Amino acid sequence: MLYDRIYNFSAGPSMLPVEVLESARDNMLNYEGSGMSVMEMSHRSKVYDDIIVKAEAQMRKVMNIPDNYKVIFMQGGATLQFAMVPMNLMNKNHKADYIVTGNFSGKAAKEAEKYGKVNIAWTGKDINFSRIPRQEELKLDPEADYVHICFNNTIYGSCWDYIPDTGDVPLVADMSSCIMSEPIDVSKFALIYAGAQKNVAPAGLTIVIVREDMLGNVNPITPTMCDYTINAEAKSMHNTPPCWCIYICKLVMDWLLANGGLEARKAINEKKAALLYDCLDHSDFYVTSIEKGSRSKMNVRFNTPNAELDAKFVKESVAAGMSNLKAHRSTGGLRASIYNCMPIEGVEYLVDFMKKFEAENK
Ligand SMILES: *Cc1c(COP(=O)(O)O)cnc(C)c1O
Repeated sequence: MLYDRIYNFSAGPSMLPVEVLESARDNMLNYEGSGMSVMEMSHRSKVYDDIIVKAEAQMRKVMNIPDNYKVIFMQGGATLQFAMVPMNLMNKNHKADYIVTGNFSGKAAKEAEKYGKVNIAWTGKDINFSRIPRQEELKLDPEADYVHICFNNTIYGSCWDYIPDTGDVPLVADMSSCIMSEPIDVSKFALIYAGAQKNVAPAGLTIVIVREDMLGNVNPITPTMCDYTINAEAKSMHNTPPCWCIYICKLVMDWLLANGGLEARKAINEKKAALLYDCLDHSDFYVTSIEKGSRSKMNVRFNTPNAELDAKFVKESVAAGMSNLKAHRSTGGLRASIYNCMPIEGVEYLVDFMKKFEAENK
């Protein structure tokens, strides 16, 4: 590959488009005649203002975000949102529904317990998080202040294939590992948040998309920096924002728009996922424990027949020019994260490797 880069299957931080990295490199020492790099300029300067305004405008275009939603650029990762969501939204009936489909949704529920009553509306714990619940399985409370879901389960490798109907109760989604991988109807959600380091930008930026009627009802003990209303009113500039990450995010938005937007991403991402799942489904060597219909197109988790072969697979894949195919320590086994910027050639290369490894080790 160009620049001797390798196929990086990391769950995050993960691959960025080469064109984006090149553009950042070319403008590194003197950004558009400003005489300095983006890393060095005041966030209040005219030239930086242009970057952050365009980052938001381009993101609105990419995701087709309605006008009655605010876009906030934050720090603290998706993990801080586990606390910010209840601090800002759990203040009417002081209770919320959490649907637990994996590791991160479990963590979000646990964090929310500090701020009010958490009802676990469904959990996949007893079935090892092998699928997403059906609508009729959800035990939703019509008095809940909101319902929280994790749309794509990065660690277990599952994803919602529908948007649950929560009636009049606002729906909140952690979309860290699937945001901008395909078009979604933002208007079905009251709030979407995502750590940017999987599909959008380097680590250090968190994106919050929040419907305006969710604002203005914050728990009074909330730190100022954790108040959505204050951050929205200050246009993500209540304090110094993660300037460099927002700049790269803008370049990624430009790249998405120049390459057919989210419809084009969806087509490519579906093709990539189908290549991998086809390989798994036509093999009696590899297994995947995620049920059809619940399978993630971003994080494909699988196993060889035993842990020794899993370890051998990881070792040989590194030697073959691929990285980060070892799954999260909590599940064991293997995982290929194939986000937006993993080219289809990378997945084809992996599938060829998998077939060869199977033939040699069966
Ligand atoms: C990575 C990830 C997180 C944690 O994100 P941080 O930015 O590291 O806090 C939370 N939720 C999901 C779905 C993730 O993929």
